[in-house]
This record gives sequence, structure tokens and C-alpha cells, in this order.
Amino acid sequence: MMNGYGGKILRIDLSSGRFEVQPTPERMAREFLGGRGFAAKLLYDGLDPATEPLSPANMVIIASGPLSGVFLPGSGKITFAAKSPATGGYGDSNMGGHLASELKYAGYDAVVISGAAEKPSYISIDDDRVEIREASKYWGRGAIETEKALLDDLGEDFRVATIGPAGEKLVRFACVSHDFGRQAGRTGIGAVLGSKKVKAIAVRGSKAIPLADPKGVLAKGREMFEACFAKPGFREWTPYGTAGVTDWVNEVGAFPTRNFQSSFFEGHKEINGQRLKEKILVTDKGCFGCPIPCGKYSRTKGIRGSGREKESVYVEGPEYETIALLGGNCGIRDIEDVAYLNHVCDELGLDTISGGNVAAFAIECYERGILNRESVGRDLAFGDAGSVAYLLEKIARREGIGDTLADGVRIAAARFGGGSERFAIHVKGLEVSGYEPRWAPAMMLSYMTADVGAHHNRSWAITHDVATGRDSLEGKADKVIELQHTRPLFDVLGVCRLQWVEIGFDLHYYEEIFPLVTGWKYTWKDLLTVSERVWNLTRAFNIKHIDGFGRSYDYPPARFSEDPVPDGPAKGKCIPREKLDLLLDEYYAKRGWSKDGRPTEATLRRLGLENVAEDLVEQGRL
Ligand code: SF4
Repeated sequence: MMNGYGGKILRIDLSSGRFEVQPTPERMAREFLGGRGFAAKLLYDGLDPATEPLSPANMVIIASGPLSGVFLPGSGKITFAAKSPATGGYGDSNMGGHLASELKYAGYDAVVISGAAEKPSYISIDDDRVEIREASKYWGRGAIETEKALLDDLGEDFRVATIGPAGEKLVRFACVSHDFGRQAGRTGIGAVLGSKKVKAIAVRGSKAIPLADPKGVLAKGREMFEACFAKPGFREWTPYGTAGVTDWVNEVGAFPTRNFQSSFFEGHKEINGQRLKEKILVTDKGCFGCPIPCGKYSRTKGIRGSGREKESVYVEGPEYETIALLGGNCGIRDIEDVAYLNHVCDELGLDTISGGNVAAFAIECYERGILNRESVGRDLAFGDAGSVAYLLEKIARREGIGDTLADGVRIAAARFGGGSERFAIHVKGLEVSGYEPRWAPAMMLSYMTADVGAHHNRSWAITHDVATGRDSLEGKADKVIELQHTRPLFDVLGVCRLQWVEIGFDLHYYEEIFPLVTGWKYTWKDLLTVSERVWNLTRAFNIKHIDGFGRSYDYPPARFSEDPVPDGPAKGKCIPREKLDLLLDEYYAKRGWSKDGRPTEATLRRLGLENVAEDLVEQGRL
């Protein structure tokens, strides 16, 4: 028995219909801790580089962390991971809600799903009882609709994760949905589940998590909750959640606008946190054990051109990223329209970040004459929510133009041609999150070097750019590396980072509670070393799985280095290629990577990844 852990790994082979339960290896737990760490280790060891992301050979890993489900703030985070159909490399996405704790209570630290079922199926995990059940009656239905139906059928004490029609149709940015509006949104894990014909995973658990010092955990957990409540940010941030940052991002010239053509959106005041609160908010909604519920449960009207004008719908959100990508980036200036598009994505099972990017890309293609009324099936325009709703529906069902757009902007641009590669806004195949980086070198470097592609959750460095000078490159590589170790550590431990990021919760608490939970005396530096190990392992995964992977994969789209921002606070700014190279040179050197962005053998060995070094050398990839 390991304290802090469920103690078991559940391996399910859908092709044979069999499952196996193994003890969680202590060495893996000590070296990779859990969550994203387990996902990276299991995928690196388990996947052949020839594995196609949407083939039965791919695996989906669902992993909680050693702090998941424990009495401390925000301990409800879980990782979904697979070889990504968006990038062809390592992919994962982190999700809140109640699945992480439930899985631990059922006794599992990770679920490994491989193979593919013949018929639509769902996986039921009820403590030790595991079943693969027929799911034909749920297939084709919305993600949230399916969650409700399964809870009606199984009982409300189950926790359910689902995919929507987009996952079934293998849309490369399909998400996994849970708790009526929480998503593992990024990197297309929903499509991987769809390729395996898995509509849902239902979990119910009744076991206790063993703790090294239960009384100590109770006392420290209480102290942590009280410290959260005492932070000024608790009252200032919670009423708006992440939507509260909208005006600030616009004021600093970093708000994605009309497919990242600009970084300033004149309509931002109509889609900010204040508008959300005034016009559509019903109540706050939080994840397991969260003292600062950032979820904003809202009610909104249908939109013109959606075919569902008279509908009134509930949605969790929109949170900031959705506001940025389905709002400003699509030129939409009505919070109700943004919320409705959020609802459309949620039911279809689409990531709102990539969804907003892809829709905006299609609209720009239309405005530039690369697409037309005939190829699209209707007119498209920025600012028209009907255009966006139409595109999202087409994408999720792979109908008409939607069939190409469903593969993401990188592949769509290669098919459309006409110079559209210049404004296909992605890195490594993953569409860019809600911070325009042309006047933010640290944020730019964060996108460039993130293992999964351009995702802000690895390193949210925009505040550092604003605080330290946005024309200077000095110190940016150091900060990005620091953030790339600190932020992913939360995914490894299975807890939410927003208590720290948004209200300034002190990091030393995690160092203090970790040994009380596990009995292991890790210093903060030890924990960061685990994070660095995982960072290098996912880079190694990309090197192993993507032919020619290296520096060339780290560059952003040409728009970010060649087209100065046309208006707003960042007017005239972009980061030319020579400066991007300076950033990469410094970053690689500080990480102990080669000029081409590959970890050296010495770096891998220093981090205890000897087997990875040997593997890559044997394959001629180092
Ligand atoms: Fe969930 Fe938001 Fe709370 Fe984090 S801050 S645990 S994402 S509700």
C-alpha cells in the first residue's frame, strides 16, 4: 500500500473485451508522482512510434494524482492523455469536476484504455467491478445530454465523462466532457475515445485513500482552506472567474481578434466578466473541493442563423479562453452569443479554443476569397454568430466544408492553399490559446516550446512580459522554464493551479502537505525535478514519434513574426524570426538541449531517464 494512492492501475483492452488490474508501481509513483507524469510514462513506454493516433493501437490514459481527492483546496483535477490526433505527438488535457476523486475512491490511480470496441460502448467502473457495456442508445447524442442520460440510468452517485458527436466523427479537436460543462478540451482526446467507440466512462468509488498522517492532513488542509478564504483575491476574483481577465488582456494588446489579425477588440466590454455577471449568470459552480468556484453557470438565448433562435439554454461558462476565441477571435461582441456558441461546442464535444480558431480561420479564408459561398454553403462574416454556429455544426458532423476544417487549421490550410498557411494560427498543429503574443516574447516562447503545441496552460507568461518589459528578451527564457516546471506540477499532483495563479495562494503549502499525504520527504526542489523529468520525457516522446521533430516544429505561424499588429496598444509590434531564434537558442541551452531542441544524453541521464536516452540513441533520434 502506498499512502496517497488508490494503489491500482486498470488496463482495459477493448478489442478483446478484457481488463487487468495491476498494482501501481512504487518506482513509477516516486519518479513521476501521478497525473500527467503517469500519462507521459505510460504512453512513452507503451506506444510504438508507428502508432496512428486514431488507430486501436493508441492508448488513452486517465490519471489522477497523489493529492487528488484529498482534503485540500482544488484537489479534483485529472489528466486525459493519448498520442494526439492534432499534433501526432504527446497530447493531454487536464479536467476539473469530480472524476479524479471518484477514481481514487474506486482504488485506481490510472486507467489505460487500448484497442477498439466493435460497437459503441461505455466503460463502467464501480469499485472493483469493471464492465464494457453497449452504448448504441447514447451514440450520436450530445456530450452533456449523454451525461444526463447515463446518470438517469446508472444513478446520480456515478461520475461520468462523455464524448459528443465530434468525438464520434473523429474531429481532431474533439474534447472529453464531464460534470455538465467541464472539459478535457485540448489535443483531441475525444477523437481518440471516439476511434475506440467509447462514448463514456462512468465511475463510482467507495474506498478511502490511505494517508501517511491523517490528522496532519486534516489540520494542514483546514489551514490551506482558511488561507484561501483570507486572500483578497478570493472576493475580487471569484465573482467573475477567469472571465474577469478579459479587459486587462485587451488593454495590454494581447486579445485575439478576428483570427489573430489584431490584438485589440473594440467590443471587449460587451463580452467581459462584468457583462457575463449582469446578463446571463445564474450561479457559481466549482470542482471537487474548490473554495474559489470559477465556473459560471449561465442561461442564454439562441442566436439568429443558428436554426435554434427561440431556444434558451444553460451552459457552464463562458470562461476566458472561450470568450477570447469564440468572442473576439470571431469578432463577436455579445456575451449571450458567445455563451450560446459555448453551449454548441459543449454539446457537440468540441474544444472551444480550437473551435474558435478554426471558425475564425475559415471566415478569414472566406474574406480573402480562398473559400466562397459555393464551397462553404453560405456567407461567412466576422461578428456573425450564425456563421460560427453553422461552421461548428458542420465540423462536428464532418459535413461539407466541415470535413476539412475538422482536421484543424494546419491540415485545412495545406488543403485550401492560397497562402492560408500564413494565418493558420497553430504551433505543432495545436491552435493557439487566448493570448496574442506579438508583443509578449515570454508568452510567444511558451507557445513555441509547449510539448502539446500552443497551449497556455504550460506557461502563462503574459503577466511576466507586462511586468518586465515587452521589447526585451532578457530573462524571458528563464521565466518560461520556471513556469513550465511549476505549472505542470499541479497536473502531476492532481490539483488545480488557479488558487496559486489567480489569488496568490502560497506554493509552500503543497510542499508541506505532500509528505503528510504520501509519507515521502520531497522538498519543493525535488517536486520541481519531477516536473522537469516529465517535461523532458514528453519532448522525447515527440522526438520518437514525429519524424524530423526539432527546432523547426517550435516556430509560430508567419503572422506572428512578419505581420506587425495593425492597431491597438501593440500597434506595430511583432517578433521577427531572428529574435525567435535568440529566444530558442537561450532556452535550449538552459534546458541542456541541442541547437535543434533535443535533450542531450547527459540531460536525460541527469533526470533519471537513462532508458529514454538509450532508446532514442538506438533509434538514431538523438
Ligand atoms: Fe475547478 Fe475553477 Fe476551482 Fe480550479 S478554480 S478547482 S478549475 S472551479
